[in-house]
Formats: sequence, C-alpha cells, structure tokens
Amino acid sequence: MAAMPSLKIDNARYVVTVDPQRRIVRDASILIDNGRITRVGKAAELAGTSADRVIDARQFVVTPGFVNGHMHISYAHAVRGIFPDDAGSPLNHVFTLQLAMTEEEEYATSLLGIVELLKSGTVCFVDPGSTKFPDACLQAYEDSGIRVLMGDCVSDRDAPFPLPRYSASEAIDRTGPFIKKWHGRLNGRLRAWAMPFSAETCSADLLRGLKRLADEHRTSLTLHHNSGAKARQDYQKQGAPSPTQYLESIGLLGPNVVLAHVLGIDAAEIDCIARTGTTAAMCPVTAAKGGRGVGEHGRLPELLAKGVKVALGCDSPNNSNHLDIVRALNMAAIQYKDARQDMKQIPAETALELATLTGAQALGVGDEIGSLEPGKKADLVLFDTQRPEWQTLFNPINNLVYNADGRSVHTVIVDGRVVVDAYRQSFVDESRLFARVQEMGEKLLARTGVSFPRSRWPIV
Ligand SMILES: [Zn+2]
Repeated sequence: MAAMPSLKIDNARYVVTVDPQRRIVRDASILIDNGRITRVGKAAELAGTSADRVIDARQFVVTPGFVNGHMHISYAHAVRGIFPDDAGSPLNHVFTLQLAMTEEEEYATSLLGIVELLKSGTVCFVDPGSTKFPDACLQAYEDSGIRVLMGDCVSDRDAPFPLPRYSASEAIDRTGPFIKKWHGRLNGRLRAWAMPFSAETCSADLLRGLKRLADEHRTSLTLHHNSGAKARQDYQKQGAPSPTQYLESIGLLGPNVVLAHVLGIDAAEIDCIARTGTTAAMCPVTAAKGGRGVGEHGRLPELLAKGVKVALGCDSPNNSNHLDIVRALNMAAIQYKDARQDMKQIPAETALELATLTGAQALGVGDEIGSLEPGKKADLVLFDTQRPEWQTLFNPINNLVYNADGRSVHTVIVDGRVVVDAYRQSFVDESRLFARVQEMGEKLLARTGVSFPRSRWPIV
C-alpha cells in the first residue's frame, strides 16, 4: 500500500481532545502521519512542523470522530418515513422489507446510509446484523473509508416478526466462518461480531455458543435487550429474576458484550451489568419517538454512575429516522433533564463522551479511537463555526451539544484519510444515488405489498 500523505490540522480555534484530563486546547494543531495522530499541541509549539497537506483550522472546532453503537443500515433508506405515527410498531414490516432486499438494493442503501453517517461526523458504526450481502457492501465500506462493526444476525426460536432463523448449530456454524472471513479487514476498519437478535429469539445453547466464538476470536457480541415489569415476570416463571440476570446465569455477559437499548432495567440488573463489565448501546431518539417512556424506563444516569460504558445509537432510518449522532447526543443530554425534572442530569460533556471515548470503549475500540491523543488512529471531525448556530462561541461543548447538529460538520478524517472535505465526499455521485434509491424504494414497496397512506394530509 502506498504511504498515506501526512496531515496537519493547523491552528484550530478549539481542539476538544477527550484525553485523560479532558483538555480543550485553544489555537491548537494536530499532526497526523501514517493514519495515526503523532502530536496534539498549541499551534505555536508545532509551528516548525509541516505535512503533505495542511488544513487551516482557524474557524474550526475539532472533536474525535463519533461512534454509533446501534445503526441498522440495510433496508430503511429505500423506504424512509413510510410509517405514519398512528400505525403503531412497524417491526413486522421492517423485517419483511429487509428480507426482501436484493444485493444491489442493499449496496445502494448502505452507501447512502454511509454518506449520511460520515457527513454528520460518524466514523464508526455497529450494524446489528441487518446486512445480508456483506460481499456486495464491502465495496461501499472500502470506498467510503468508514469503520464498520458487523455481524450475521441469527435466531433459533419463533419471533413475532420474520428474522433469519436457523437451528442453533447452523447459526453457530455460520457465525464462526463469518468472523474469520471479515474480522480485521480493510486495515482493521472492519470488525466482525457475533449477533444473536435477542435473548427471546435465541436459545441458551445458541447464545452460549456465540459468546464462546466471540471470546475465541477476541471480538464482541451484541444483542437487543430490554427489561421491565412484564419481562421480569416472564423470566421469573423460568427461574431467573430478570432478563439481565438470565443472561448472566447462562454466562453471556462480559466486557465484550454490548446490550442494545437496555430500557426498563431495575437496580439489580444495573448491578449485574456493572459487575460483569458488560456495556450498552442506547438509542435516545428511538426511545423518545417510540414513546418508550424514558422517564420510567431509562437508566442511563444510573448505568454511568456504576461505571458502565455506554455508546449512543440512531437505530434505524425508520426508528430515530435520522443518522445524526450530534442530534442523538443532544437528545441524551436533554431527555433525562426533563424526565427527572433535574437540569444536572447528563451534562453536555457526558453526552459528548458517549459519542466519543466512552462509546468507543463500549464497542471495544477505545484503545484505537474516541479521543485525540498521540498514538491513536486519526479519526477527527472539524466543525465549521462560521455558521449562525455556532454564534457566539465561549463554550464549545455547550455549543456543539445544544446549538449545533451534524450539518456543521465541514471535514471528516478516518484513519488519517480525509473522507469528507469541505462538506463534500468524493466516493459516490450523490444525486444519482438519491434517484436510484428512491426508485428502489418504490419497487420494494410494490414487490412486498407494504403500503401506507403517503400522508395524513392530502397530497394533491
Ligand atoms: Zn436494533
């Protein structure tokens, strides 16, 4: 591979390092060589250094690249926004549409999802097993330069919606080779995980077998996981106090396991997650839009207080509907203030940590990304402060979390490569892609017979 050009981010207005001291460096420069950060310091200290490319960052606030811990990237871009608010849970249609995707459709919708993710600053996402055709999508991952944590979604029990279902041994026999084939590809930007759908749709044997594979391959496992009074009652009939304690009793929990959503857990379940070093990916916008009752069921402050590493997710383009992690971290910062009637809940700095270092640690990539420090991979976001929403600028964290959104992302760097440059990406022709995905969505709806009124208002 040809040597990557070195980079200098020069004289940034602020660099939000998320380093161990959480330094925010004014008038700062960053040097990047061979895909890694080599120096972070005051511009004056680094004035004598140069690089193949120098980016004048005087108008920028620089942050670590963002991680998205739960982001179904397959079907939904083709049919985004089709579910009216009064239609109730769309899950049955979601999986019907997803299972009907062709290879070509999935490649195009994934590429569109990646464009949206990168342009709003996400450099690394977990696709919780939505992608059916990773061979076809590899080109999108390679061309775009994004980091992808992927897996093959499996289940071996009845589900209320159509899921990929196998026998436990078939599911285990698929996952092992999947991890072997994909883990570590694209210079380590691809990682392959084990991805049982949920405890309710997978037997204990399957869950144990997949955890063993994740451990053997030194990779991770993620599954959908919620609790609540009704779920606890159901599990108590089978002898476990709660869904979370059931997972512990079968040996599933541990530092390489990411529980997705995690709504409705009680104090004993939080202890169980903390004690085992298990991590979480929470989707604040999905929870709010889905009317999940964060006031009653959200336990993000308690998880963080116990030291649990939590990432944020956007879930799917038909759940949160957007893929903008800046909007998700805004929701994380504000929804607990409202739910608990307490402004001290989830300060802006904490919200930013969830999308950077803490989130990266939750996903097992915290040694490589999530903060701007020498030795780490060069994953950075440059926010353009020459926009009205960034005025006036005294506290860059508050401005980022409460004023801005991903639309002020000007430049994105992944692995030392500039993948969004002055608001533009160069790996795909966007207008052609948009037209293609619109056409694919129309065909997909016609083919599956999934149909909803286009609007509650007349379209004339
Ligand atoms: Zn999910």
